[in-house]
Amino acid sequence: MKKEMIPHDLNVDLHVHSNASDGQLSPTELVYRAHKNNVDIFSLTDHDSINGLNEALDCCSEKKIQFIPGVEISVTWSKKTIHILGLNLDFFNSQLNFALSSIQNTRYERAKAMDESLKKHGLPSLFDDAFGNAGSKGQIGRLHFARAIISKKICASLQEVFQNYLVPGKPGFIEHTWLSLSESVKLINNAGGVAVLAHPARYRLSEIELSALIDDFRFFGGVAIEVASGCHNNFEIKKFQKIANEHNLLASRGTDFHCPDESRLDVGQAPYLPDSCSPVWASWI
Ligand code: AMP
Ligand code: MN
Ligand code: MN
Ligand code: MN
Repeated sequence: MKKEMIPHDLNVDLHVHSNASDGQLSPTELVYRAHKNNVDIFSLTDHDSINGLNEALDCCSEKKIQFIPGVEISVTWSKKTIHILGLNLDFFNSQLNFALSSIQNTRYERAKAMDESLKKHGLPSLFDDAFGNAGSKGQIGRLHFARAIISKKICASLQEVFQNYLVPGKPGFIEHTWLSLSESVKLINNAGGVAVLAHPARYRLSEIELSALIDDFRFFGGVAIEVASGCHNNFEIKKFQKIANEHNLLASRGTDFHCPDESRLDVGQAPYLPDSCSPVWASWI
């Protein structure tokens, strides 16, 4: 086997956002970045949207990068928001398209309510600003509001925004019910894809809750977990490598890149997977 065909050695980024959701670069700009950073396999995984996939696909074939169609689905599990990546799916699947449109329809109303909540707490209306930098009605989310808060100099950084606004218990947070875990995994599997539990360290779950989430996820048909995530430190990578092996889950790698100024790691620069993991992309090469 040629060295570059050993799955662990490939430069893979299976978690990236474009301006089809809350990233700031176009799919083309992202693929150019991936090319510059020697990415071999690239997936675009916008929140609840597949709108950038055609453009990314075309650009990847131009740049000779293997393209994996993806999406990051917002899920409500046990009253918490969880993100499930659907990778290598048929993005023309009609059930998937219908479900994603339904989620997008609820984002606009949620954004209006977020704006009202912020105004009630003395902030100016940020709706036009937030909406102006979201690609379309269905894409608007908390990061668009966070950027508007920074541009009005109400906070200095994203970290400051997400400590004081837009999170449970703070102004601008609106309870929202996304898809259920079982619905999202089923949708992904029915579209021929692979369901991956995204950035598992991000959810502030107790060990008991984490174990219940992984059990439910596997029960509904989830088969992989993001181990080498741009959101994980070295300790968390080790922890989830162990969990992946214990639960027979494949492992994924991705930066969760959103834009150059905001993301710690550039496209393709997530840590490599630990050797003992089974890469989710091994069967796609
Ligand atoms: P939404 O899907 O509208 O709830 O927005 C979620 C998005 O907000 C995430 O995908 C991130 O892009 C962003 N976000 C949430 N929390 C943080 C944080 N602490 N720091 C930076 N970005 C965050
Ligand atoms: Mn995001
Ligand atoms: Mn996420
Ligand atoms: Mn993401």
